[in-house]
Amino acid sequence: MTKKTRSTTQLIDGFGREIKYLRISVTDRCDLRCIYCMSEDMQFVPRAQLLTLEEVARIGRVFAGLGVNRIRITGGEPLTRQNVIEVFRQLGKLDKINDLTLTTNGTQLSRFAVDLRKAGVTRINISLDTLQEERFSQITRTGKLHRTLAGIDAALDAGFERIKLNSVILRNRNHDEIIDLVEFAHARGMDISFIEEMPLGIIGDHDRAETHISSDEILDILRQRHELIPTTDKTGGPARYYRCTDNGARIGFISPHSHNFCDDCNRVRLTAEGRLLLCLGQEHSVDLRRVVRAHPTNDGPLREAIIAAMAIKPRGHDFDLTSQPVILRHMNSTGG
Ligand code: SAM
Ligand code: SF4
Repeated sequence: MTKKTRSTTQLIDGFGREIKYLRISVTDRCDLRCIYCMSEDMQFVPRAQLLTLEEVARIGRVFAGLGVNRIRITGGEPLTRQNVIEVFRQLGKLDKINDLTLTTNGTQLSRFAVDLRKAGVTRINISLDTLQEERFSQITRTGKLHRTLAGIDAALDAGFERIKLNSVILRNRNHDEIIDLVEFAHARGMDISFIEEMPLGIIGDHDRAETHISSDEILDILRQRHELIPTTDKTGGPARYYRCTDNGARIGFISPHSHNFCDDCNRVRLTAEGRLLLCLGQEHSVDLRRVVRAHPTNDGPLREAIIAAMAIKPRGHDFDLTSQPVILRHMNSTGG
């Protein structure tokens, strides 16, 4: 059961937004190379520069003490980091964390789903952009669809409170599968969210302006098959939800371009090398690795650095697909 501890946060930014949600990237590495996320030849952070798993757990604990009640582990592919389950175990023990969640490509879930559930993970988001084998290999450059599908089955068997699929839709690549993906998710009792592609990093594969498809257009495609009504459901992140009146399926839209969600942003992100990023679409950040290493046994300076960082959280992002990406950081180094 999701714990129902209420918390007040000491983390309030300059625009009055309460920060209660921390996303932690435990690695920038991945076993896939999705065309919208990475370029073909990526440089990854040398392992020696990563936060240790103990440092990750320590930072998570300090955030919980400051009022964060929700932590999502992401990456890169978080389940490729050796011994990562230890981080889930440590964070799962924190009383103040109501909701410990994971974003994964699913390839390793057959191995880890049961241990993740036991460690206290409540919900999982699994990325799946296509149900076609060959297309899956094209979109992920290296992946095998059957591994992610087996991972989804393992997660369904492990009894998480909720499993959601995340699909990035690209025009003329997978937009013809929108309805199939909804049906696949609904048949298995999962939600699904459609994500607008963001211009993070240079990817080489395609022109993001050409493949862009707005959430409203996806909604129009879905309305050819289903009647959809907006809901007021909130799951802590940026998704807006609709429900199909015929079969009850819940469909989310994450629309960084067409429905900017910055006004009620409640999130900050920790990169794998310990940089606290105040906004996904801006570079404002604070180096927490330096602080934890300078003060290995005293959490005071870490607490102070986190509280002080709130003052530089920017109002929001401003993506522009018509020019070269302003943010050179790829999505795998930030996590979603
Ligand atoms: N590897 C895991 C996965 O794929 O779920 C976690 C990390 S991945 C960076 C997190 C989410 O970001 C995924 O749902 C992925 O589809 C999405 N994503 C990656 N690059 C993106 C981009 N440029 N624009 C929008 N979403 C993106
Ligand atoms: Fe890896 Fe996730 Fe990026 Fe795909 S979206 S390359 S699975 S980090």
